[in-house]
Amino acid sequence: MSKLKILKVPNPILRQSCPRHEGSYQQILNDLLDTMKDIGYGLAAPQVGVLTRLAVVRTSSSKEPIVLVNPEIINRLGRSSAQEACLSLPGISLDILRWETIFVRSDAWMGSRRFHGITARAIQHECDHLEGICIDERIARELS
Ligand SMILES: [Zn+2]
Repeated sequence: MSKLKILKVPNPILRQSCPRHEGSYQQILNDLLDTMKDIGYGLAAPQVGVLTRLAVVRTSSSKEPIVLVNPEIINRLGRSSAQEACLSLPGISLDILRWETIFVRSDAWMGSRRFHGITARAIQHECDHLEGICIDERIARELS
């Protein structure tokens, strides 16, 4: 495992929508986990310069890392606003509206899984990165 350099806004890579992830992901996953260790709740591959639909989330309420491979949010419930920070925007936190409960598909598990609260928020944050959206752009958007 190795710690990778985290790209910062306004790096144009962070504004691109990522293509579907194909093939194995263990190596990049280990690097993402190593890179975000002790500094964040989640990290998406484009934040380390890899344009592919892969991200990982690990919050205080998720014991195991949540591996998002080609993730898809298939259902959403409730809304809440809270402060969010991003490793690509150091020193900034913004009030962001998110869904409170989401149902997510990932190639890393079968079917869909339900997430709530801070974990749901972190997953939405990382899914936004896969679309090239950082919190400085999300702040102006309605939920969809
Ligand atoms: Zn972020």
